[in-house]
Amino acid sequence: MRIVPFGAAREVTGSCHLLQAEGRRVLLDCGMFQGREEAKNQAPFGFDPKEVDAVVLTHAHLDHVGRLPKLFREGYRGPVYATRATGLLMRIVLEDALKVMEEPFFGEEDVEAVFHHLKPLEYGEWLRMGDLTLSFGQAGHLPGSAFVVAQGEGRTLVYSGDLGNRQKTVLPDPSPPPRADLVLSEGTYGDRAHRPFPATVEEFLAILGETLAQGGKVFIPSFAVERAQEILFLLYENGHRLPKAPIYLDSPMAERVLALYPRLVRYFSEEVQQYFLEGKNPFRPRNLEVVESAEASKALSHEPGPMVVIAGSGMLTGGRILHHLKHGLADPQNALVFVGYQPRGGLGAEIIARPERVRLLGQEVPLRASVHTLGGFSGHAGQDELLEWLSGQPRVVLVHGEEEKLLALREALALRGQQASLARWGEGVSINLALG
Ligand SMILES: [Zn+2]
Repeated sequence: MRIVPFGAAREVTGSCHLLQAEGRRVLLDCGMFQGREEAKNQAPFGFDPKEVDAVVLTHAHLDHVGRLPKLFREGYRGPVYATRATGLLMRIVLEDALKVMEEPFFGEEDVEAVFHHLKPLEYGEWLRMGDLTLSFGQAGHLPGSAFVVAQGEGRTLVYSGDLGNRQKTVLPDPSPPPRADLVLSEGTYGDRAHRPFPATVEEFLAILGETLAQGGKVFIPSFAVERAQEILFLLYENGHRLPKAPIYLDSPMAERVLALYPRLVRYFSEEVQQYFLEGKNPFRPRNLEVVESAEASKALSHEPGPMVVIAGSGMLTGGRILHHLKHGLADPQNALVFVGYQPRGGLGAEIIARPERVRLLGQEVPLRASVHTLGGFSGHAGQDELLEWLSGQPRVVLVHGEEEKLLALREALALRGQQASLARWGEGVSINLALG
């Protein structure tokens, strides 16, 4: 058995790993490179797509599925296995990617090809390919997210995909993996634990309470998949603690995901499932208003507060949030609340450093609104959770993280007597130590 990383090696995006065992070649994820790494999407995969026998997907984030259409464009015709939730979310994610890509490296027909070859694989089911078997465990990162267990040639491999933040309440906790000969694990937050989630929620509610009480607007830049809905869930559960104000979901993509959620009930935590059982949708607070057209969104940016505005893009790389900020950042009564990761060098990081003025959509805007960063909303396991999930695993190869973070995790694993190394692009790792 052998695993070869072709992405997310000492970086966060582009997850794509080729598993070879029992004479089969199975691709685990086929993600897009994003941000600084974007140009790499145009480069060859590093293997021949026509020689891949099957694709298995861990979850619907673009950095795990975004190069799938390219795989079909380059001749792949085999099955794509994913949970039903992953398949449904992936359609929204890939269609949006096609719309916003500046240098498209696939077309509509390639996206359609992916869905023609999609096959469901649920938690606990076994996919048998000759003597190679694969199955999913709960990863708790997105609805339908999974880690992969592969068994063949007398060896066991576990691939983590992305592991969720166990402190949060919308999704189930990640399940513990079986003991494996090798674990290919993410290490996004390999260097630190997250702030306790209840404290994050209290801080979030305090900012909203204060801002809305003084008639201000709260701007929440958010990813359209999962984070926006999670914020709505918190507003649903805690609405009685906040001054009355409309909540605007100003993201058609987030609304598409929201509309899908009632079909995905069994993929959520028991707490969320209980609400649906009682006939309630806990992702739609009573004062929620969905903003559909771009014109309505622009008009909203001229309306007075109090209000909450949830809009994309989550990293301020574009989208409707920009005109809300352009019209709202000069007002000291308003608040900008970051609930997602802001990459170094991006507009979000620039605003967090609190300059006197910010350039937005070609205009200089004085920054007088308050700015808050709430790291506790992270959708990834913190270092403490990663260590617990990996406990007892003798051999770990780290992917999906910046090099410093992976090195910190390797160090922490070494202190526990666990052997860990950092993956390199295209460099295969052989798994020939049988389970003792
Ligand atoms: Zn992810």
